[in-house]
Order: sequence, then C-alpha cells, then structure tokens
Amino acid sequence: MTLPTDNYALMGIIVLTLLVARYTAISGTLFVWWYALKRGNSSRKIQMKYPTTKDYRREAGYSLLTMLVYATFIALVYIPQVRPYTRMYDSISDMGGPVWGWLYWVLSIVLMLLLHDLYFYWMHRAVHHKKIYPFVHKVHHLSHNPTPLAAFAFHPLEAFTEFLILPIVAFIIPHTTSAIAVWMFFMSLSNAYGHLGFEFYPKGFNNHPIGRWINTSVSHNMHHQFAQQNYGLYTLIWDRLFGTVHSKYDETYNEVTSRYHSEGTNAVTPVSTAISTPPLFHQ
Ligand SMILES: [Zn+2]
Ligand SMILES: [Zn+2]
Repeated sequence: MTLPTDNYALMGIIVLTLLVARYTAISGTLFVWWYALKRGNSSRKIQMKYPTTKDYRREAGYSLLTMLVYATFIALVYIPQVRPYTRMYDSISDMGGPVWGWLYWVLSIVLMLLLHDLYFYWMHRAVHHKKIYPFVHKVHHLSHNPTPLAAFAFHPLEAFTEFLILPIVAFIIPHTTSAIAVWMFFMSLSNAYGHLGFEFYPKGFNNHPIGRWINTSVSHNMHHQFAQQNYGLYTLIWDRLFGTVHSKYDETYNEVTSRYHSEGTNAVTPVSTAISTPPLFHQ
C-alpha cells in the first residue's frame, strides 16, 4: 500500500477515513451485535446491568475525537521530512531475502505488540497518578461498565500519549506499512474485546500456563469498575510481575465463566436470567 506522503492534508484525510472505518467495523459491529441484537441473551455478560444511551454516545464521541488526534499525528510521522528517519521499508523483500523477509515481517509484528504492551502498561500507570488522572484519564474511566465503543474513548491529551507508541515503533523497529496495518488491526480488535463487557475465553483460562499471562475482558472490565489494578493491554505479564493484578481477578473470572453449564445445556443460571434487561436507549 502506498500512501501520498508528500501531501500531508490528503494523507491525514485518508488516515482518518481508515481509522473511522476500522473503529466502525470492529467496535461498531461488536456493539450492535452484543448490545442490540443479542441484548440480555448471554450468561457471559461481566456486569449484568447495561450502560445508558448517554454512556454509548459519550464513548463513541470521545473515540471519534481520538481518531482525529491519531490521524493528525500519524500523518506527520510519514511526511517526507520525517519519514527518512523512520525504519520503514517499501516492501518485505527489501528487509532481507524472500524467506527471511517474510519471517522478519511476522517477527516485526510480534516485536510491535511486545513493545506496545510494555509502553502501555507504564503509560497507563502514569496517567493513573493522582495529579494526572482527574485532568486526563478520568474521561476513559467515565465508563464504569464499558462497551466496545469505549475502546478509544480518551481525553485528547491521552489520545496523544497513546499515539506516541507509533513513532517509538517507527523509529526503532524496521517495518513495512502492512506490518503496521496488521499491528493496528490487532490492537483495535484486542481493545474492543477488552471493553466488550462479555467474556469469551474458556473457564480456567486465567489459571492456564499460557492463559494466565493473557489479558482478558474480565480483567479490563474490573479495571473500569475499580479504577485501579489490571493495567495491561495485550498481556498480564507486567501486572503479574509488578503485583498489580486485582486480588479478586480469579474469583470474578471463575464466576463469570461458570454461569452456564446446567446439565450439559447452555441454559443460563438464575444469576443471569434474574436480571431484567433495560431498553437499549433510555428516554
Ligand atoms: Zn479501558
Ligand atoms: Zn485506567
């Protein structure tokens, strides 16, 4: 994919269009499916109550504002004056031989994810500092019971700090545009899942030798409920290493993933069915 990097305005508009399309396709689709079409029809809802229309609008509004901030700065990273300083290659074959090029392409995406995971953990802990939180990160935490629409619901200043991982990656890791696109797509998917409000990993995943290191929707939902601990993005590596996993994480994960299994059917336990489902849009 070739972007018109010599025309900043055009490139900004193209990036903005792609970002909004990605947000609509991923967060929008998940929201419509789980909060409108299948509303109330799942035992895996993490918090049984549903947010209000006001919450949905606020989450979507701030997320779209974040796309504007992202597009403004993403386009800047690849203008002709800056791009030569990045580690961007035009094609995979430029990064090595035909085989090594593709292997490296995959490795570069893994490196992006690991670097982003580390950056996000410490950036997230920093914005929880009492002197920063009320002015910046509180916007994201207005959602105590998030939906996929909250995936990018940030104060513009936080949107900028979230964006900073792109230049960090672009200046450190040799990459192609396609590798960045795959990383960004995975990031959006992962972010939407973290804010989904439903848990789909299997029972016991939190104690599995691999699963215990992977972030879950329950984990991030608890972060929104209690506004502390469970700071991770893709993984729980840093939370486990630095002792910031919520003490009730396992208990909550087990409770959410144990709700349905009555006599081999998918019948929802009374915990779920007892909850009345409010209308999608409050008047
Ligand atoms: Zn969040
Ligand atoms: Zn937070």
